[in-house]
Amino acid sequence: MKRQIFTEDHDAFRETVRTFLAKEVTPHYDKWEKDGIVSRDAWRAAGRQGLLGLAVPEEYGGGGTTDFRYSAVLAEEFTRAGTPGFAIGLHNDIVGPYLTSLATEEQKRRWLPGFCSGETITAIAMTEPGAGSDLQGIRTTAEDRGDHWILNGSKTFISNGILADLVIVVAKTTPEGGAHGLSLLVVERGADGFARGRNLDKIGQKSQDTAELFFNDVRVPKENLLGELNGAFVHLMTNLAQERMAIAVAGIAAAEHLLEITTGYVKEREAFGRPLAKLQHIRFEIAEMATECAVTRTFLDRCIADHSAGALDAVHASMAKWWATELQKRVADRCLQLHGGYGYMTEYPVARAFTDGRIQTIYGGTTEIMKEIIGRSLLG
Ligand SMILES: Cc1cc2nc3c(=O)[nH]c(=O)nc-3n(C[C@H](O)[C@H](O)[C@H](O)COP(=O)(O)OP(=O)(O)OC[C@H]3O[C@@H](n4cnc5c(N)ncnc54)[C@H](O)[C@@H]3O)c2cc1C
Repeated sequence: MKRQIFTEDHDAFRETVRTFLAKEVTPHYDKWEKDGIVSRDAWRAAGRQGLLGLAVPEEYGGGGTTDFRYSAVLAEEFTRAGTPGFAIGLHNDIVGPYLTSLATEEQKRRWLPGFCSGETITAIAMTEPGAGSDLQGIRTTAEDRGDHWILNGSKTFISNGILADLVIVVAKTTPEGGAHGLSLLVVERGADGFARGRNLDKIGQKSQDTAELFFNDVRVPKENLLGELNGAFVHLMTNLAQERMAIAVAGIAAAEHLLEITTGYVKEREAFGRPLAKLQHIRFEIAEMATECAVTRTFLDRCIADHSAGALDAVHASMAKWWATELQKRVADRCLQLHGGYGYMTEYPVARAFTDGRIQTIYGGTTEIMKEIIGRSLLG
């Protein structure tokens, strides 16, 4: 089915992204996978190409558009290229909205130009060793010392954790306040007492620097409070819908791409004297996956259009997230199976997509948490 949500401008942007990937990302990606990190040069190149801060107002160096369809194009093309370790979506679609919607004018002038040029790489640190799905378990504290906070605690699994120059940290500012005692504090590279732990060894997305962060009596100036004091929970709930959409968009794009690769493979590969594609089981596998992708694509495109118009609610974003990423997981498994032993070899894109994609049903809120959100909206 022809997609109906894009205009010629989006198509032109897609070409720009493809050219960027071919020149600045794909040739270097294997090295980054070995190094466990993406080069800063690539981030700056993305900035020069206008791919960072699409939704940041032009006066701060951004693209000046809140049209989420451009973000969808970026996510789709990075996914198709097999380069999810370059966490451009995290920077643009997950961290970006906190800065554009919550920062004061002074903070915007301080942080947004670097955000858009690629000089300032960003991260958001919610998860702790003892608190993932349940953010009420956060133990990192920020003690009020007049003109500054003293931050103590640790975070784990933080994407861009090694590269990040600016980290939005969720911390307890009112210990007895429960969910409503949490605030967002911005910690900048070089702050005394801010240390990075290991670049974690993951099963996929090897080039993504996912790390532990430690805060030991870090002095955070009061000017680095982002949004309302004790308002983090509300800010997180507001922004998590876009985070979930960004992940869902990558999920369906990955499933479609895997199907495309595998369709080509089964036409070429022969067994028992004829192409695999002539066997009924294989044909049914491909037919079922194509149907599931087409149905999901229709729903996702509707969600993308609604979100671009500011009309997508958290419940539908949660539906999109769990459905598209679980589909991605199923399709990756079935496509790997159809590749036989070759599917297990990392030189085959299907193998890397299998391990790279596995995290999709976990981060940004697990499938189970998405179902909790949907269930709560229906059943109270
Ligand atoms: C590669 C990677 C990148 C990440 N990037 C970031 C990042 O940039 N910033 C950040 O803050 N975090 C990040 N995370 C953390 C991620 O968001 C969490 O791992 C995730 O939210 C799950 O939390 P947890 O690992 O503590 O699992 P837990 O919360 O311990 O959950 C374990 C299992 O229990 C299930 N479960 C928990 N509660 C319920 C419930 N109420 N009902 C039913 N089932 C439940 C979960 O679904 C899961 O299956 C990242 C993680 C990874 C692996």
